[in-house]
Amino acid sequence: SNQLLAGKRGLIMGLANDKSIAWGIARALSGAGADLAFSYQGDALKKRVDPLAAQLGSDIVLPCDVGDEASIDALFSALKVRWDNLDFVVHAIGFSDKNELRGRYVDTSRANFQLSMDISVYSFTAVVQRAEKMMSEGGSCLTLTYYGAEKVMPHYNVMGVAKAALEASVRYLAEDLGKDGIRVNAISAGPIKTLAASGIGDFRYIMKWNEYNSPLRRNVTIDDVGGSALYLLSDLGAGVTGEVLHVDAGYHAVGMKAVDAPDI
Ligand code: NAD
Repeated sequence: SNQLLAGKRGLIMGLANDKSIAWGIARALSGAGADLAFSYQGDALKKRVDPLAAQLGSDIVLPCDVGDEASIDALFSALKVRWDNLDFVVHAIGFSDKNELRGRYVDTSRANFQLSMDISVYSFTAVVQRAEKMMSEGGSCLTLTYYGAEKVMPHYNVMGVAKAALEASVRYLAEDLGKDGIRVNAISAGPIKTLAASGIGDFRYIMKWNEYNSPLRRNVTIDDVGGSALYLLSDLGAGVTGEVLHVDAGYHAVGMKAVDAPDI
């Protein structure tokens, strides 16, 4: 372990269970000496998040549905009671109706387009808006995205469109907040088997394809993402903002199927 985040305080949003990308990130940050607070969505998740938070020495576990402005305000009000300032925030949240994460993008409904954009895109801006007010000494904000923002990936559909908008919002937020010493970045993670990913059609095939065709010839883990998050959220990343960092075993760099890739 290291002390890259000793004395730093951060909020982790989007922890559902010990498979969550948020968990890999939280472990890496806690290992670097950070004090963490957690938000979870809905009562059902509280009983999963409480013990995970406790494992990392945190007793700040607060509810927040990012689809609801009042709920986001309540989260930050409750956080302010415990902490007078915030050094970083991790937004590991996305949502789309899984019936539209298969089949054709062209068939996306207006209702699910709006919901996907609201929960997966706007919520990051809404969170950064509140976090900014607690980052008087500067800070670092991080969200999670996927390669489906850049290229068509099977079944990713409306989430690809949402992630493209999320990545654009990272750049606009970075410009707005840079003058105040607040950095805003995204990690574009390769496919990882999580609750959210299980809603995507043919996800096992996508995992295999990435394993066989990425330069590292493997999939990434939540600990790989955690390590890169530590870089972006600590002073190691002090000169980095508006960036989308690929943590995908290099998959984004290749142009076609590897010659040694087995059949799937
Ligand atoms: P996960 O299911 O563990 O986490 C998703 C989280 O989003 C859950 O904790 C869920 O409660 C939360 N959430 C959904 N709607 C919410 C709402 N209205 N209010 C508050 N929270 C809400 O899955 P994950 O894969 O760890 O997802 C985290 C992030 O990583 C997402 O943005 C996802 O798109 C992104 N990502 C995942 C992969 C992958 O392959 N798993 C790859 C790249 C990017």
